[in-house]
Amino acid sequence: MKIIDAHLHFSNLQKFKDTANNLSNIDYSSKGLTKEFNDSNVVLGIGMGLTEMKKGAFPDAESKNPMDLDLEKELPKFLVYCLGINPERLKKNQLADIDEEAKKDRVVGLKIYAGYYPYYVYDEIYTPVYEIAKKYNLPIVIHSGDTYSDRGLLKYSHPLAVDELAVKHREINFIIAHFGDPWIMETAEIISKNPNVYADLSGLIVGDEKQVDRFKNQRLFVDHFKRGFVYADNYFKLLFGTDWPLVQIKPYIDFIKHLIPDEFHEYVFYRNALKVFPKIKRYIQY
Ligand SMILES: [Zn+2]
Repeated sequence: MKIIDAHLHFSNLQKFKDTANNLSNIDYSSKGLTKEFNDSNVVLGIGMGLTEMKKGAFPDAESKNPMDLDLEKELPKFLVYCLGINPERLKKNQLADIDEEAKKDRVVGLKIYAGYYPYYVYDEIYTPVYEIAKKYNLPIVIHSGDTYSDRGLLKYSHPLAVDELAVKHREINFIIAHFGDPWIMETAEIISKNPNVYADLSGLIVGDEKQVDRFKNQRLFVDHFKRGFVYADNYFKLLFGTDWPLVQIKPYIDFIKHLIPDEFHEYVFYRNALKVFPKIKRYIQY
């Protein structure tokens, strides 16, 4: 089965490097990613644009806008990306920069870091960004749930806020990242109710293979997610993603396979991403 990883990172952030070294035991480089992709037949990755100006500053109010993938000078050919938005620097000229970048072939969506930046997703500050998404038919990935930094504020990353946004902008497709974990039932309700809201399954576990196995074998942990999937009863709304380098790709694929009924694997691991990110089609060889 061909796989698309709809949520990963390729940014020069200290926190990602530390996680790769100390928790997930990953070679955080194009070389490492190429190997992990090849080992699991992952044919395309969608990176989430993110930068920090000072080492360890993420979520950085000073970051450039839009934020891209800056781990290495060149982007591996199997990566496309979502432009990361820094709301603290949404001044007029930067909107022009976002608009310009959004036209690039390899930009397939936008990413809002709710919770990392202290604004609700329906805040006026983001309105011009949503206009850009509409103009270029780009979906928007929204960070939801727990923040990977204790400086984040959870009230802004609660998935419930996406409901109001989705109603306001029916012509944009939104993707709730991490299935809003730990707010699984809330996310299940929001993707069920709103035709334009999807969810990715990235980052539900952080760590190495041993850690993934430990959680995979805990029924209460598995049921925490399964309950939401069964309630939503719509596997055409779920996208596979890893959050690499937070977790190794192969064991994480096995974990997600364990959560999703067999007959929907092809959709969750591949087809749904092609539908939600229309621009990625040109990078897929049929
Ligand atoms: Zn992520």
